[in-house]
Amino acid sequence: MEKNIRQLDEIIWQLDLEVDNEKEFIAPYLIKSNKDFIIVDVGPTCGIKELERQLKIMNVNRDNLKYVFLTHIHLDHSGGLGTLLENFPNTQVVVHRRGAPHLIDPEKVLWQSSLDTLGWVAEMYEKPLPVKEECLIPIHEDTFHIKVNELEFNWIETPGHASHHFSFMLENKKIMFCGDSVGMVIPSLDNAMVPTAPHPYRIESGITSINKMIELNPEKLAFAHHAIRPGALELLRKHSKQLQSWKECVELCISKDITEEEDIAIEISKIDSDSAKLFQQKDVFGGLRKALVGSITGFKNLVLKEKEANS
Ligand SMILES: [Zn+2]
Repeated sequence: MEKNIRQLDEIIWQLDLEVDNEKEFIAPYLIKSNKDFIIVDVGPTCGIKELERQLKIMNVNRDNLKYVFLTHIHLDHSGGLGTLLENFPNTQVVVHRRGAPHLIDPEKVLWQSSLDTLGWVAEMYEKPLPVKEECLIPIHEDTFHIKVNELEFNWIETPGHASHHFSFMLENKKIMFCGDSVGMVIPSLDNAMVPTAPHPYRIESGITSINKMIELNPEKLAFAHHAIRPGALELLRKHSKQLQSWKECVELCISKDITEEEDIAIEISKIDSDSAKLFQQKDVFGGLRKALVGSITGFKNLVLKEKEANS
């Protein structure tokens, strides 16, 4: 099998798009259900050529790609959707109701806010093309159930990382596809787990979402970035504690007037060995490391906001 296509299970593959030549960052999941396929998050516009090349190798075509499941609409997950659907017009897209309007009209909110928050990274991802409304299945409730042949998927709203975030459990395998709501794991850094908490991050929602996932009792977590890991319940509990300890650390930094992200990173590295592993990697993991620094900004802003509210 082609090196960037990894079979993780008898029906699940991970397609590493190597966006910006970075491995282990953007890698949609492909799920097979009888003769049909589902893609979980498609990656940004600049990765679609590579995604289509890999889909061809996997014998995925416009007739058998039934669904795209979107965990949320950030550019690294949904940006390439409009481009992909030009060649897959029959595919239906399941997405949060709040995300749907921004896929139909990506110019204002999705593209402009990404340029503001991500800068050159958004430029590198490239601008998203609009998606036709009839391709979308917006989820209006906070839960959603869909059956694709013999496979059953239970969706739950998991805000925190984004207000428009859903996670879903593949019930047949007890695998929770958690998008970016449980941080990310980096296989080549000994599966270090680090928060994905961009501004405006809401820690209470994030922890409530983790508790909701624990209630569904998953066995494995499928992180959007970038692996399926066993021991889901331990990982969920570990991440909840990690979020709390990050918050305490950032509060302490702010009280000592340590406000620059790179300086806060040094303090976080002292209390969180997983995060330390990634912070030390300046050259190898450009995008992942930038995402981690973005998480510090998210925590810094939430601590400053709380401080302001209490003063
Ligand atoms: Zn992401």
